[in-house]
Amino acid sequence: RAKESGKAQYTIFNPDMYAQTLQLLHLERDLRQALERQEFCLHYQPIVSLSSGQMVGFEALIRWQHPERGLVFPGEFIPIAEEIGLIVPIGEWVLEQACARLRQWQLQFPQAANLKISVNLASQQINHPKLSEQIDRILAVTGLDGSHLRLEITETMLLHHTEATIDMLLKIRSKNIQLSIDDFGKGYSSLSYLHRFPINTLKIDSYFISQINPNSENVEIVSTINTLAHNLGMDAIAEGIETAQQYAQLKAWGCDFGQGYFFAKPLDFHAAEALIISNPQW
Ligand code: C2E
Ligand code: MG
Ligand code: MG
Ligand code: MG
Repeated sequence: RAKESGKAQYTIFNPDMYAQTLQLLHLERDLRQALERQEFCLHYQPIVSLSSGQMVGFEALIRWQHPERGLVFPGEFIPIAEEIGLIVPIGEWVLEQACARLRQWQLQFPQAANLKISVNLASQQINHPKLSEQIDRILAVTGLDGSHLRLEITETMLLHHTEATIDMLLKIRSKNIQLSIDDFGKGYSSLSYLHRFPINTLKIDSYFISQINPNSENVEIVSTINTLAHNLGMDAIAEGIETAQQYAQLKAWGCDFGQGYFFAKPLDFHAAEALIISNPQW
């Protein structure tokens, strides 16, 4: 911005900024200790088949139980973890925790036998040469079959892909693990080369779902993305379903799966387990 306006800009010291910088430094310091202190946990949000109304799996979402701040959401610390190089070990923890949990549920509850677990990957993870070995190790120690794991990546990762990215995606697919594109439509939609990647599912960004409301004129985009997914041989998941109307409309369009507060918020593992046992139908 400073360059565009052609004027030099000076940052004037002010106490607010100082306080903010200090807060960030404290957050970084705490984050470096959080894994060791076992302060992370996963919450699980159900993913529902829109045709049957049955739960088909969960998305694992990380939370940080901070000793003073309480529950901290990923939007507040994942970007910092990426910046200070902690996302790879944190991401490995998430993968192992998520796979172990699903495997345990599968062994305990017959209703969980076919559930899948979705895990978000950061770009530093997908570009890490050891990811494939990490996954092999985690599937081996947890006993989870690769076909029950779904990894979520973003369009940006595909946009900035290299040969190594494609190799990694193919390696992942060779373990029968599913790949989803998260927040689809939100970024630079790389429609022209989408078909070049071995993707199984498009997750339609919640923004487009929020446009399905009684006074919106602009809903065709969702049915278009849904059709696009199907034409490319992929499934579609609608994110952020909050109303019965959205559910009904998406179902009518033939959208495969849905996720959102209408079904359930992300749940801690006790609540997620209770849901598995009650085997709900929406
Ligand atoms: P995401 O992967 O797109 O996850 C969906 C987010 O939308 C979650 O926020 C979820 O709580 C929220 N959500 C679900 N249904 C609704 C709804 O009906 N209405 C509204 N308003 N929101 C809904 P959350 O848990 O705060 O996570 C935010 C983002 O943080 C995630 O977006 C994902 O990009 C990232 N994230 C979460 N866990 C991890 C992780 O383990 N690793 C990495 N790298 N990123 C993660
Ligand atoms: Mg996600
Ligand atoms: Mg998403
Ligand atoms: Mg999102």
